[in-house]
Amino acid sequence: MNKSEYLFFCQHCGVPQRIPEFALKTYLCDEKVKQYYCNNCSRENKIPEYVKKLKSEL
Ligand SMILES: [Zn+2]
Repeated sequence: MNKSEYLFFCQHCGVPQRIPEFALKTYLCDEKVKQYYCNNCSRENKIPEYVKKLKSEL
């Protein structure tokens, strides 16, 4: 996988979501943000715990 991109699978439809590193830093690692929206089915997904942990490595 490209280092500057992260991949999630939608918890509803299973479609992979490519998240660029800048989006991860500016959005997904924000403590107030608890979910992201699938590009395919537009439903809410809980942000995986490991993604929150990436915060300290970025
Ligand atoms: Zn989906």
